[in-house]
Amino acid sequence: MNKLIPAIVSDIDGVLIRGKSIIPNSDIVVKQLLNCHYTNGEKHNIRIPFYLLTNGGGCTELEKANSLNRIMGSNFKKHHVFLNYTPLRPIMDEYKNKLILICGAGKLTEIAKDCDLKYFYTIDEYSALFDQVPFKDYEKETIKQYETDIKQRNMDLMRNKQIEAVFIVFDPIKWEESIQTISKLVKENKDLPIYVVNNDVTYADYFKLPRLAFGTFTNALISILKKELNINPNIIYYGKPSLNTYKYVETYINKKHDNIGNIYMIGDNPASDIRGANQIGWPSFLVRSGVFRGSENDAQDPGKYVVKDLMDAYNKILQLEGLKVVQ
Ligand SMILES: [Mg+2]
Repeated sequence: MNKLIPAIVSDIDGVLIRGKSIIPNSDIVVKQLLNCHYTNGEKHNIRIPFYLLTNGGGCTELEKANSLNRIMGSNFKKHHVFLNYTPLRPIMDEYKNKLILICGAGKLTEIAKDCDLKYFYTIDEYSALFDQVPFKDYEKETIKQYETDIKQRNMDLMRNKQIEAVFIVFDPIKWEESIQTISKLVKENKDLPIYVVNNDVTYADYFKLPRLAFGTFTNALISILKKELNINPNIIYYGKPSLNTYKYVETYINKKHDNIGNIYMIGDNPASDIRGANQIGWPSFLVRSGVFRGSENDAQDPGKYVVKDLMDAYNKILQLEGLKVVQ
């Protein structure tokens, strides 16, 4: 019987890079994982499947891989990257011939097109064209541009059709437009599926004090719909630490590679990276190079192993799995 091969899934920010700087030695590990073969004493041409799982988004997987390659000098391809909305791709596929609303900051039109969506309004287009927000005037030129963009998508076919799902694929930065519009749609159809891709309530990055993140928007939306309309909205959660996201990644890895044993998760955020890994039963490495700085383990979401950084996690995985780099 063949020995099983491990796979490694790593978070990006706080593990590989912080902002636009490389976390020391992470580039060396990345180069080895993407380019080297390993031996377990039985087989000598093993590749360790290596993937990135981030709650980031607002762009395509290809753009994310390229921007990381520019910072790290690595050779990630788009298939190495799971962004916050990547696990929604098969679901979006089911909406190919239906009308949907796509929300959030970032390059919504590019994302929708890259996901093969044909009939969609971005939140900006919908708010401007259907007059959702009081006291707001849109420039004539802006409206004209939206109309031209929509025409190119053959949206005439969808005239008078109702929106069948809302996909919030990145942090909404225009809360009022989003809440006004989604409230109206939910009022018309209380079962309207609303997909969200990030449940973090705070966001650290370079700010002195953490900022409110995507999760707070979802909480605000739920609270308004409950209080004002007495409706419990049909919100479907994706993104770390949701089980939906981890199951998608696990299924993807097992489909793409034979003989997979342990899937290791490496992350710096206990409530996100580690909680998700613990829920699905992947051995987890909590690193101290990002959000988590504690001297022991995290009390609420403990990693199976706590190490300094990616290099330490990598070396420990090779040791646990009896793997050596083939020179
Ligand atoms: Mg992180």
